[in-house]
Amino acid sequence: MVKCCLCQKKIKVTSFGWKEGNNALPLKDGRCCDLCNSTKVIPARIKKLPFWNRYEWDLIDDEEFEK
Ligand SMILES: [Zn+2]
Repeated sequence: MVKCCLCQKKIKVTSFGWKEGNNALPLKDGRCCDLCNSTKVIPARIKKLPFWNRYEWDLIDDEEFEK
């Protein structure tokens, strides 16, 4: 079970079996639920866009690597 690192609620498994939630960066280095993602993380990313663009690509590469 994965807990949201922002609101501490349990992250629900999606219809396609993904249970890790969303990436909470740049707010926190952890996983967050859909609600926090859309209300907190995405607005924060928009503010930090130049930084986030570069970081997101690094992160996607890492996750692909682990599969
Ligand atoms: Zn949450």
